[in-house]
Amino acid sequence: IKKSGILEMLPLHESFNQIGGLDYLKEWVRAKATVFNNLHKAIEFGVDVPKGVLIAGLPGCGKSLNAKATAQLFGIPLLRLDMGRLLGKYVGESEANMRRAIHLAEAISPCVLWIDELEKAFAGIGDGGTNEVASRLFGNFLTWMQEKTSPTFVIATANDISNLPPELLRKGRFDEIFYVDLPTCEEREKIFEIHINKRRSEDIHQINVTKLSEKTEGYSGADIESVVKESVEAAFVAGRNQLTTEDILTTIANTRSISELFKDKIE
Ligand code: ATP
Repeated sequence: IKKSGILEMLPLHESFNQIGGLDYLKEWVRAKATVFNNLHKAIEFGVDVPKGVLIAGLPGCGKSLNAKATAQLFGIPLLRLDMGRLLGKYVGESEANMRRAIHLAEAISPCVLWIDELEKAFAGIGDGGTNEVASRLFGNFLTWMQEKTSPTFVIATANDISNLPPELLRKGRFDEIFYVDLPTCEEREKIFEIHINKRRSEDIHQINVTKLSEKTEGYSGADIESVVKESVEAAFVAGRNQLTTEDILTTIANTRSISELFKDKIE
C-alpha cells in the first residue's frame, strides 16, 4: 500500500501560523486538538473520539494547508490517501486496497488520515449512477466512518460537494463540514503578510499590505502566494536589494485571479 503510493506519510512542515484567515475552522480544529492531546481524560469525561471533518471549497483556498497544519497541531503523523491510485483494475482490488489502507491507518493511529479530492471517487453515487465499484467502496467507507472508534482523524477535502452522495453529509459521518471561501479583504492582508514574511521578512515593515489587499479582491490564497513569489523574483532580476509595495502592485496589474479565470463557474 505504501509502495504503490496509495497511502503516503507526509512531513509536518506547515503550521497554523502560516494560514491567513479561516479563523472559524482553526478554532474548531484547536478544540479537537485539545481532545486529541488528552484523549484518555476526554473519553473518561464522556467526550467522543473525534471522527473527522470534511472541508470543501474553491481550489487554492487552504484546504490542503489545513490538513497539514492540523496534523502538526495534533502532533501526530499525517497519512494521505490517494483515491485515484486506490482504484484498481481487477475485480475487488479497489475494495481490498481501501481495506488495507484503513487497516494500516488504524495500526499507525493516532494519526490524521487525509483523503484528498473525495469527489473524484464518490461523485455521482446514488444518482442512479452505475459505477458499482465506487458504490461498494463508498459503502465500506461509510460503515467505517460510522463505526470507527480508533483515534484516526479523517480530513476529507473536496472542491465540489454538490455531487457527493447525501449520506456522506449526514450527521454521524463527519463531526463537521466546512466550506472554505475566497479570503476576505482582512484575510488577504494576513495572507500577504505570511508570504512576504516567508521570503523577505526584512521588507515587511515598509510594505502596505492594506493597499495590496484592496487591489486583490477575488484572489485565492494560492493566487496571493504566486503574486508574492513573482514579485520577489522580478525585484531580484531588476537588481534591486529590497521588495516594495510597487513591485507587488505591478505584478497584480499583470495577473488574473482565480475568480476571474473561473468567473462562469463561480457565478
Ligand atoms: P486544491 O483544492 O487545489 O488542492 P487547496 O484549497 O487545498 O486547493 P492549498 O493547497 O491549501 O489549497 O493552497 C495552495 C497554497 O496556497 C498553499 O500551499 C499556501 O501557500 C497558499 N494558501 C492558500 N490558502 C492560504 C491561506 N489561507 N493562508 C496562507 N496561504 C494560503
